Amino acid sequence: MTQPQPVEPSATAALSDEALVAAAQAARRHAYAPYSQFSVGAVVQTRSGRFYTGCNIENASFGLTVCAERVALFKALSEGERAFRAVIIATEAATPTPPCGACRQILWEFCGDIRVISVGWQGATAEWPLGALLPAAFDALSLPARQSAEASAPPPRTQRRKRSGRRVRESAAASGRAAR
Ligand SMILES: [Zn+2]
Repeated sequence: MTQPQPVEPSATAALSDEALVAAAQAARRHAYAPYSQFSVGAVVQTRSGRFYTGCNIENASFGLTVCAERVALFKALSEGERAFRAVIIATEAATPTPPCGACRQILWEFCGDIRVISVGWQGATAEWPLGALLPAAFDALSLPARQSAEASAPPPRTQRRKRSGRRVRESAAASGRAAR
């Protein structure tokens, strides 16, 4: 098997899915996973075409472990990125690994209903919309202050409002208010 080649970080030209997968696989090599032996690489792709890599970083105090997806996302956020297109996850698991619950929640906060692509052993691939992995998500719109001041809410994206489940909830809440 050929080693995945590193890709120039934060390339400005939009990369193909294959190139993003290669970048995630390369990032996986930097994983610090002595406890689980489960190395993970990740890439977040911005809407502008840039990408940021991450790997899981474990700790002897297990609860301090940070997943590859969050490392990649936080790198991007710390560089000022706020608009995302996709997250790519690379492992060597027989079945492509979806993001854990914590990462789903954090990805939703910043990325909304983006593509989630996961590649495992021998190229086994799965793809989901994040909304399918986190139905009825709790987010800023779930907070009472946001429901009444939605127009000034800071969430950086518009994708979240595409989810039909959210609209159902919002309309149910609205009719509840109207009934009172
Ligand atoms: Zn995670």
